[in-house]
Amino acid sequence: ELQIGCGKARPVRAPRGVELHCKGWRQEAALRMLCNNLDPECGERPDDLVVYGGTGRAARNWECFDAIVRSLLELEDDETLLVQSGKPVGILKTHPWSPRVLIANSNLVPRWADWEHFHELERKGLTMYGQMTAGSWIYIGTQGILQGTYETLASLARQHWGGNLAGRIVVSGGLGGMGGAQPLAVTLNEGVLVCVEVDRARIERRLRTRYLDAMTEDIGEAIRMAGTAAEQKRPLSVGLLGNTAEVLPEMVRMGFIPDVVTDQTSAHDELNGYVPAGVSCEQAAVLRSSDPGRYVEMALDSMAVHCRAVLDMKARGAVAFDYGNNLRAQALKRGVENAFDYPGFVPAYIRPLFCEGEGPFRWVALSGDPEDIAVTDRALMEAFPYKERMVRWLTMAEEKVSHMGLPARICWLGYGEREKAGLIFNDLVRRGRVKAPVVIGRDHLDCGSVASPNRETEGMRDGSDIVADWAVLNALVNVASGASWVAYHDGGGVGIGYALHAGQVTVVDGTDEAGLRAATVLRNDPAMGIIRHADAAYGRAVEVARERAIRIPMINR
Ligand code: NAD
Repeated sequence: ELQIGCGKARPVRAPRGVELHCKGWRQEAALRMLCNNLDPECGERPDDLVVYGGTGRAARNWECFDAIVRSLLELEDDETLLVQSGKPVGILKTHPWSPRVLIANSNLVPRWADWEHFHELERKGLTMYGQMTAGSWIYIGTQGILQGTYETLASLARQHWGGNLAGRIVVSGGLGGMGGAQPLAVTLNEGVLVCVEVDRARIERRLRTRYLDAMTEDIGEAIRMAGTAAEQKRPLSVGLLGNTAEVLPEMVRMGFIPDVVTDQTSAHDELNGYVPAGVSCEQAAVLRSSDPGRYVEMALDSMAVHCRAVLDMKARGAVAFDYGNNLRAQALKRGVENAFDYPGFVPAYIRPLFCEGEGPFRWVALSGDPEDIAVTDRALMEAFPYKERMVRWLTMAEEKVSHMGLPARICWLGYGEREKAGLIFNDLVRRGRVKAPVVIGRDHLDCGSVASPNRETEGMRDGSDIVADWAVLNALVNVASGASWVAYHDGGGVGIGYALHAGQVTVVDGTDEAGLRAATVLRNDPAMGIIRHADAAYGRAVEVARERAIRIPMINR
């Protein structure tokens, strides 16, 4: 009998090994990845079905979770399961090449797309927050953001200090599902981090998984530890128990200005994500349910104070950037008119990669055996020896990154490379070099899959920041190309109404058919990034389209 845990028998854990419980590997993969999102080793608060990013959920409630599991176990190879905001709502006869699951999460008609309406519908049990990879079942733990954060900081270090962060101090907030990657990303770049986190348990979790080096409750001690390490050019990460809206202004008052300041608290969600100044985590939980209106007011006030401190640090010489949690827009609501004086990380550091069709390619070994990931790592290093940063990253990841749940890996790959990697993985499965099929997916934070004017599409050259057709086309393209499951969400990292985005996951089981499907998806999905950026007049994207013969009727025929 299948032992994965369920509403009644938790914890949930994905099945491992080569035995199929479903009628095909695509259904089995969806089942394992859904369970993996809620594995206590992987998700942040699995008892509440919360995977990461504030309240990003894998299923609407435990009853829905059980019904999704049952549906996947019964699903035929020519049927498609429909999931509406974490609830299984239909099973339709489709085609063998169609996706096995189609998911739509958190979408509201634009006129009403805000937290107020969302929370009202959530209370009525009609929707759930899907974040990006939570509700689309391809979260791989904190590693999922680690390489992106590492690359972002490496790019920052190249722009400002010629390559690394040695001797530099970074201040940030949040050690949650994604924010927890910051300490390792900074120390891998040889820098020093002080990360302010209000929840002791989150700090302890990052210490346990070796993402974080040390912890203190004292601001003076944190500054001293950071200063000494920076002087000695020794990498160090310190978790400082406290509230960003209190600690950052205090740092400014003390005259302590770091080299870099950013933030990854869940500022995108003023009710369930950000803890206001002056209240502990426990008090916050009580206030949230006893007086949600007051909670929201207090959280927004604190975000304004927090954002002003970031602006003060920038005015005194720190490099400030927004790390995609919408803190600036929240502060603007509270009258911080110059909140957008510091840039988001995409226009500052990531857009050139998007113009190459690069994005957060990730994969998971369904066998559950970490050796399978080691085999895929080596295969990529052999296939792309010229990608020096990728080789450096994979070598470090092998040594320093603990797996959370099913063994997984992330590495940014561009147009052409993703298709090649997918075919290599399919071949490894066919030849028995890895023990079971491999799941290939990505974050929704990708080059051609998202419309998010305060993040991925901030400051587009042609002013098309809020045009959302691209995200819809991306979802449709992935369905047409034969992905195993496709998801379309509102909200993601920046909150309801601020972003629309799509994701795909594709399974390779070693068959020719899986190879063809994977190649089609992994070619067309990043092609959307080239097309989107070429259309927005980015010269490099136009060049890439020409070099690689991507047909764009009014640019490159
Ligand atoms: P999470 O909810 O798992 O963690 C947020 C953490 O912030 C929690 O540990 C919480 O205790 C802490 N926190 C909340 N308010 C605080 C305060 N005032 N002071 C100190 N600590 C506080 O969320 P996550 O998955 O880590 O994501 C963090 C944010 O980053 C979210 O807004 C998310 O949407 C955004 N995000 C960014 C990217 C990116 O690419 N940059 C990717 C994913 C998510």
